[in-house]
Amino acid sequence: MSNYYCKYCGTKYNSVSSLTSGPCHRHPDGANKGKHSLYEGDEKSQYICKFCGTKSNSMSSLTSAPCHRHPDGANKGKHSPAL
Ligand SMILES: [Zn+2]
Ligand SMILES: [Zn+2]
Repeated sequence: MSNYYCKYCGTKYNSVSSLTSGPCHRHPDGANKGKHSLYEGDEKSQYICKFCGTKSNSMSSLTSAPCHRHPDGANKGKHSPAL
């Protein structure tokens, strides 16, 4: 069985339909302002922020920290995993 991760918060699901049906507490528009969104990359042992290169061994810890090179401005958003 495959695992599917939300690219905003790193929550793991075993189906895309259940992932995209749930509100995301780290949605970029605000907590629970939108649904989880599928991370389309492969499952990895280490995730890298596509904006700044910060590495983390879990997507949930990567996406929990503000990004100093976020496109909306320094620390205006969270790290986002590269595919
Ligand atoms: Zn989410
Ligand atoms: Zn970053």
